[in-house]
Amino acid sequence: MPELPEVESLRRILVRTAVGRTILSVRIGEKRLRRRVTQDFSGAVAGRRIVKLSRRAKYLIVELDGAHVMLVHLGMSGSLTHRQAGFDAGEFDPRHDHLEFSLDDASRLVYNDPRRFGMVRLVERGALSATAELKGLGPEPLSREFNADYLAQKARGRTAAIKNLLMDQRIVAGIGNIYASEILFRAGVRPTRRAGRVTRGEIEKIAAAVPVILRAAIGSAGTTFRSYRDSRGQPGRFATRLRVYGREGKPCYTCSTPIRNVVVGQRASFFCPKCQR
Ligand SMILES: [Zn+2]
Repeated sequence: MPELPEVESLRRILVRTAVGRTILSVRIGEKRLRRRVTQDFSGAVAGRRIVKLSRRAKYLIVELDGAHVMLVHLGMSGSLTHRQAGFDAGEFDPRHDHLEFSLDDASRLVYNDPRRFGMVRLVERGALSATAELKGLGPEPLSREFNADYLAQKARGRTAAIKNLLMDQRIVAGIGNIYASEILFRAGVRPTRRAGRVTRGEIEKIAAAVPVILRAAIGSAGTTFRSYRDSRGQPGRFATRLRVYGREGKPCYTCSTPIRNVVVGQRASFFCPKCQR
């Protein structure tokens, strides 16, 4: 499932290919997504110029000139692919290609999502921060607001597992299962530890590990297990740099102890029983 690094990688590539382009037309395939594509979608988007691409948590925000922005979420299996001019237009698959935006340089942006947990929603610019999707999100993990003091304050007295705290979008936005596991390995803290029992020193290690892991993942264009591809159709390269995630039974790179997998908050959680306390 795409997390912050995958969406940020996508944004950085699309900034080069899509910003400044005008959307000439929209082709709509299957309308059913997490939110159904609305009837007025094409009319509101056609003729609009893409002026900026930003990101909040796992959401890509496509800012158009005029009154609207598009809020895009990749769900479990979504992708937003940029297809250069000359790409076969017959490639459009109306079952899984939900939206195809034709741009004024004859290239196209295609939103594809076989599992349909994602969404592309048109929102009035002024209403964006109040949408159900963005309202109540915690700070960005790469912002100054997110630091050891903030995390310590949120962890205080909490019985929830520290890993669940990192994955709670109201506490910090954009971290999911893969990167929470990697952050806790780097910090040397077990995913199962009660947040309120994690020491100040460990909280500082976790807060320091967050930007290191996320920036490294962005630098590798994210992690691909199944369907995730960046906007050029390329898989992310961070999978080869994962220390614990998906490595159950394999030797820890630091101490050779077999990596273990426990279920925390209904999610597989990988850790080294020796390196993580
Ligand atoms: Zn180890």
